[in-house]
Amino acid sequence: MTAALSFTREEHPALIPASDRAVFLENPGFGKVFTDHMVTIRYAEGKGWHDAKVTARAPLVLDPATAVLHYAQEIFEGLKAYRLPDGGAALFRADANARRFQESARRMAMAELPEDLFLQSCRELVAADRDWIPEAEGGALYLRPFMFASEVFLGVKPASEYLYMVIASSVGAYFKTPTGVTLWVSDDYTRAAPGGTGAAKCGGNYASSLIAQQEAIREGCDQVVFLDAVERRWIEELGGMNIFFVFEDGSMQTPPLGGTILPGITRESLMLLARDEGLTIREEPYSIDQWEADAASGRLRESFACGTAAVVTPIGRVRGRTRDFRIGNGGIGVATDRLKARLVDIQRGLAPDPHGWMERLF
Ligand SMILES: *Cc1c(COP(=O)(O)O)cnc(C)c1O
Repeated sequence: MTAALSFTREEHPALIPASDRAVFLENPGFGKVFTDHMVTIRYAEGKGWHDAKVTARAPLVLDPATAVLHYAQEIFEGLKAYRLPDGGAALFRADANARRFQESARRMAMAELPEDLFLQSCRELVAADRDWIPEAEGGALYLRPFMFASEVFLGVKPASEYLYMVIASSVGAYFKTPTGVTLWVSDDYTRAAPGGTGAAKCGGNYASSLIAQQEAIREGCDQVVFLDAVERRWIEELGGMNIFFVFEDGSMQTPPLGGTILPGITRESLMLLARDEGLTIREEPYSIDQWEADAASGRLRESFACGTAAVVTPIGRVRGRTRDFRIGNGGIGVATDRLKARLVDIQRGLAPDPHGWMERLF
């Protein structure tokens, strides 16, 4: 669809001093330490993708009538560059993020960024900000590619201009507590409906989920677990993470994709790793009542949430207006721990990479 674009690299006028960077990298938390650079690529109907640049990270100037501010035509991605034992760095399954970004764009009637441009933009930014990749275990350089309708127009239609960007954030662990998180079952709110945008990674899904997350926090929980919008019975996913269940016979289960669940790359990777080990994994609906009954009977042993940001996070307890039950011993279970280690070891370059998921950058 496009010829390769060459990226212009603009000299940064004032890099953050190394001593300041070292302080930021000591305890980066999640999503608050940003690097020196950013990538921008523009799209205009008739002109295609153009003006690919790596520049100093800087605020945007937007006309108040910029379409995204009114109709929320916006999508994003999240992926990580990992530090390797020899000091190099690698991306994990960036090609899968590139493809999902195209699928999200299609659903939101936006221009589709060619896969090679997505990949090149990530490589360019990691190269420019290579000193920002944390070395500590659990640390990574989180890349946030995103794109929004940049046309200045208030008419309701798919925009004819888009701005694609990538920013990067040095991150540590997503959750402060390494033990099991407590989920809040949302009775009043759903995340996605059939025919809606649940499978697209768009900001709008998050905007509509925040009120449920606010309720969860008010109730003293960490995250929301959403039920399906039709029967209000089937477990779908968290606001930004997929979910897995582990049973006493060693089998695992995760809700099936089908338009209302975000097709997580961590989800798919864990399924492949578990199958490599000969485990049975079902992609089948699981109801909230069954979850509660199985947790009580001991048929269900473990549950965990997964995503790029939070990696694999054990679920220790589930609460709602009419329920409160504990999963296993409330901490991380053996199967969860093992699967997490399998994934993390590949990402950190400590174990062989049988599926060819890692792309070494330098
Ligand atoms: C990004 C995201 C996930 C996790 O996807 P990964 O590719 O594993 O990071 C799960 N659910 C939602 C709603 C998401 O936006």
